[in-house]
Formats: sequence, C-alpha cells, structure tokens
Amino acid sequence: MLAKASAGKEGTDVTNRKRIYAWILCFGFVLTLFVSSAYIVHEADHDCIGEGCDICETIALTEALLHSFVLLGVVLLFLFAAWAILKHPLFLDAVRRPKRSTLVSWKVRLNN
Ligand SMILES: [Zn+2]
Repeated sequence: MLAKASAGKEGTDVTNRKRIYAWILCFGFVLTLFVSSAYIVHEADHDCIGEGCDICETIALTEALLHSFVLLGVVLLFLFAAWAILKHPLFLDAVRRPKRSTLVSWKVRLNN
C-alpha cells in the first residue's frame, strides 16, 4: 500500500516537472518571438552604412529566426491536427469496427 502511494506521488511529480518544462519552453518561445520582433521594429530606421552593416545582418538573422519559428509552428500545427484526427472517437470507431458483411461484399449474385 505504501509503495503504491509513493509511486502515485512520483508520477505526479514527473507530470508536474514536465508541465513546468513545457511552460518554460513556451515562455522562451514567446519571449524569443517578442524580443526578435521588437529588435526589428527598433532597428528598422537605423543609420545604415550600406554593405557590411552589422545591424542589417542582425536583422536578416532575426528575420530568418522568425521564419524558422513560423515554419516550426506550422509543422507542429499539422502534427497536432493529425494527432487530434487520429484520436477522435469517430476515427477510432471506424478503425475498430469490424467490417460488415453484406451481400455485395460477398459478391452474391441476386437472381430471381
Ligand atoms: Zn544597415
């Protein structure tokens, strides 16, 4: 009984730890998006020296980072949609339901 109780508490700790890591990851993601966007907006009107400008290179890198985040977000959205569809009860019922046998599936010829 004691081992069962401690195993349950340990499972809760792992779940809470995963939840905290997920929140930290989400916060870092949003913070990176916000800081990158703020940097681009702040430096959009800088005194550019032309070719070899460090600020322009940093803006280009930041834009590439934002584009990769958008691509990652789209991929994650598609994966989530696929997971949600596959976990939907209607889909699971369709997969689990045994095939109905009908006269057509048996290829029975119906003559008078
Ligand atoms: Zn520049």
